[in-house]
Amino acid sequence: MAPGAAHFSFRQWSRRLIRPSDTLCRRIGTDRCADIYPLPVASTPPELHTHWDMGASSAPGAQPLDDAPPRHMTAAEFREHGRAVVDWVADYWERVESLPVLSTLPPGAVRAQLPSSPPELGEPFPDLLDDMDRVIVPGLTHWQHPGFFAYFPTGASGPAALADLLASGLGVQGMLWQTSPACTELEQHVLDWLAGLIGLPERFTFAGTGGGVVQDSASTAMLVTMLAALHRASGGQVARDGIDRGRYVVYTSTEANCGFEKTARITGIGASAVRFIQTRADLSMDPQALRAAMEHDARAGFTPVLVMATVGTTSTGAIDPVELIGPVCREYGAWLHVDAAYAGVAAICPELRWIHAGVAEFADSYATNPHKWLLTALDFDACYVADRGALTGALSVLPEYLRNGASESGVVVDYRDWQVPLGRRFRALKLWAVIRWYGAAGLREHIRHSVALAQQFASWVGADERFEVLAPHPLSLICFRLRGDDSANRELLDAVNATGRVLLSHTKVRGAFALRLAIGGTATRREHVAAAWALLAEHANIARHSLGRGHHTEAVSPETG
Ligand SMILES: *Cc1c(COP(=O)(O)O)cnc(C)c1O
Repeated sequence: MAPGAAHFSFRQWSRRLIRPSDTLCRRIGTDRCADIYPLPVASTPPELHTHWDMGASSAPGAQPLDDAPPRHMTAAEFREHGRAVVDWVADYWERVESLPVLSTLPPGAVRAQLPSSPPELGEPFPDLLDDMDRVIVPGLTHWQHPGFFAYFPTGASGPAALADLLASGLGVQGMLWQTSPACTELEQHVLDWLAGLIGLPERFTFAGTGGGVVQDSASTAMLVTMLAALHRASGGQVARDGIDRGRYVVYTSTEANCGFEKTARITGIGASAVRFIQTRADLSMDPQALRAAMEHDARAGFTPVLVMATVGTTSTGAIDPVELIGPVCREYGAWLHVDAAYAGVAAICPELRWIHAGVAEFADSYATNPHKWLLTALDFDACYVADRGALTGALSVLPEYLRNGASESGVVVDYRDWQVPLGRRFRALKLWAVIRWYGAAGLREHIRHSVALAQQFASWVGADERFEVLAPHPLSLICFRLRGDDSANRELLDAVNATGRVLLSHTKVRGAFALRLAIGGTATRREHVAAAWALLAEHANIARHSLGRGHHTEAVSPETG
């Protein structure tokens, strides 16, 4: 017998004999318990020998098994603390407007307030809530602040937060249909609902040849669909033998999300296989330039694998002409993925459904993030494929320990084959709760409210001759700048953000520094957008003054504008 095993056996045995009380052991911690009852590495008690000598526990350094459970939170305690947590979150939502939007703590300030080592003994739960107030909240940038206009919103909402709690409480792992049929079937169903709401064709649903899957992000949707496209283009060879270096090329516009290049790196085709297609005047992909690039590559012996079109680019909200890009993809046999991470959900409104022109006819896959503009708190990306076989062909691996009758029957969906990880949580509950709480009509109201506020803001900017609007803005993102140089615009952005009342972000539009104001947060109302404009108008003169270039044009006020 290995020495470790003897040590282990004796400690177990002696614990039974000496038996420090379980409660004591728990209070002082198992490690300290072992120090208090130091045990010689010797004489295994014969009656326990055969039992303890078995299995992995005889590995060197193995710790004694402790058959006492830890002190879990009881159901009664969970009820009590759960109510306190719900109250805490509700209070946070009520007071978030009074907090500065952007956290201004220096690097390391949050960590400096945390103990250097974890607690040895459990602590009362209310202590954690105290630290939420004391340590965490001051270190937050408040994405749920009604003055948050940076990047794109991520809408936390009551139903989404509560559904997340339900998912955590159930703690199911839905890798296979069999490991929780409801987890899989609700996801299929809710994603079919969403497909109908945003006007995706039947082939993207489970009634057709495709279907939807919840991913964590639009970037992951890019990854799995690029893998599916490579699978299709290579007839399965990529999955088997890996990437043929220098053979495959993929396309997107110069305005596409940076996740695309990262995806090319991860799949192994490499960043140099990405062709960035130039854009037209409205910053959408130029389909003629795409055709020229594909033609050139095909002649040079490359295989055009995939084109990613964007409906609502991250930088300016530009909408690529999918109906013109689609035929080019068909011609060269390339997979067409449509990234509608931010904008796609706007198609819930019939009057905005034009943003999906061409998707029904031409797209092989499509993704939108309800966690941005559809009140479904992070994380939730709805990713659709028209041919689920390409996706599962690329990603399915079947080890013996996952074999089961339901999977082999072929009539169920095993979502592990639709994603990178094996395990998956019950995220569908979140969108289910959001759709059921708001109803389709409520979701349309949310989108229309955001769009109306954005149009109002754009009209104020457009009516003030110190400013210019830089890009088309049919939805809820406005890109604009002060007529002046980049440094005046940077100064203006810093000045309004420093007030703590709003947060805007920036981008470059045709090389020039531009401010971005994105609307769609759960709490944002007209008065918050008006306040943002008032701040911009007020600070505009200061920014221009400091460069010695001040006109003194009066701001058009939100009330008169
Ligand atoms: C936000 C965004 C992404 C990235 O989304 P993640 O879900 O964070 O990966 C991709 N594309 C577009 C157009 C986006 O707006």
